[in-house]
Amino acid sequence: MQRPIYLDNHSTTRVDDRVLAVMLPFFTDHFGNSASVTHAYGWAAEAAVTQARETIATAIHASPEEIIFTSGATEANNLAIKGVAEAHFAQGRHIITVQTEHNAVLDPCRYLESLGFEVTYLPVQLDGLINLQQLEAAIRPDTVLVSVMAANNEIGVLQPIAAIGALCHQHNVLFHTDAAQAIGKIPLNVQTMQIDLMSLTAHKVYGPKGIGALYVRRRHPRVQLAPQLHGGGHERGLRSGTLYSPQIVGFAEAVRLGLFEMELESQRIQALRERLWHSLRQLDGVHLNGHPTQRLPGNLNISVEGVDGQALLLGLQSFVAVSSGSACTSAKMEPSHVLQALGRAPDLAYASIRFGIGRFNTEAEIDRVAEGVVETIRSLRSISCGTRPIVPSSRTSSRQCD
Ligand SMILES: *Cc1c(COP(=O)(O)O)cnc(C)c1O
Repeated sequence: MQRPIYLDNHSTTRVDDRVLAVMLPFFTDHFGNSASVTHAYGWAAEAAVTQARETIATAIHASPEEIIFTSGATEANNLAIKGVAEAHFAQGRHIITVQTEHNAVLDPCRYLESLGFEVTYLPVQLDGLINLQQLEAAIRPDTVLVSVMAANNEIGVLQPIAAIGALCHQHNVLFHTDAAQAIGKIPLNVQTMQIDLMSLTAHKVYGPKGIGALYVRRRHPRVQLAPQLHGGGHERGLRSGTLYSPQIVGFAEAVRLGLFEMELESQRIQALRERLWHSLRQLDGVHLNGHPTQRLPGNLNISVEGVDGQALLLGLQSFVAVSSGSACTSAKMEPSHVLQALGRAPDLAYASIRFGIGRFNTEAEIDRVAEGVVETIRSLRSISCGTRPIVPSSRTSSRQCD
């Protein structure tokens, strides 16, 4: 049986062969612990980690000491949000974030609320962008952190990061951004964008899973952070644990390739996205979710009128791997919090598809998918008169994984 075409590149990506090639020697020949300073095995690992740190720092215009390796963006978000909150406990206990953030930002914020912090969850406009006046109005004397993602994982919307950074610095508030979807896809510059903390991950940009980093600004201002993992004092005491050298080397190569190929690749991927959208919008009652142009090149998120969300996903499963805007929490289906924040009615939020086009997709694949999606929607509409209630079952339920 042929596998479906992979268009779920916001969930994760295939590791690029060039990335795998640089990783492999670090599992075998160069297996040393980068913290072992007494022998050549350790030195080899240490040299590779140092080089990787430099590559990643350079890619975002930071310095190498400002890169703290983590297990991914979830851990980086936790370290940034809980670490800043804990270190600034005496100064203030108010945090500002946005309703459309990833759960790896929202959940640490909710946890801090349970400890007595106050969190403002800013709404978004219909296009998914925040309103800067609203952000400014939400800043209080006791605000210690603003956390706004660079690129949204569901609707691909790119927030005005540089303007947010400028606003935060004007008010002396630290600015964190979750750039898990942005690294290697759009230019990121922690200096011009005035970013104080930035979460990164490798596996959305053709690198390995289980590795990421937190950028932590050391000058103007020097960010104070409380570690969340204690142990051997690795990573300047901010994140203990033996460095995962094969993953770190792969992460750096993925970032390097992403940067090197960014311009051409985003043009190619965006053209594929436009091609897909051009075919799908021929149908009546198909709506684009999120800003039409201020979004990741490979993202297309649509809501479809007059079909049942669950039936739609089932119909697509055989030929395309995508995810939908409904997440199954325990026993009941819930429309995505992101689409709800855009003001999409539950029916339209359920019946949504997220396409994530990536490096390895071809024009022929996009054409096959477009044809199949149009056919599926037409046939679902012809057999149903309106939407039926959604009956969750363990086999057909989908979970948003990204
Ligand atoms: C994937 C993703 C994460 C989680 O990253 P992991 O490295 O898988 O922990 C966090 N935020 C966003 C926006 C993401 O897309």
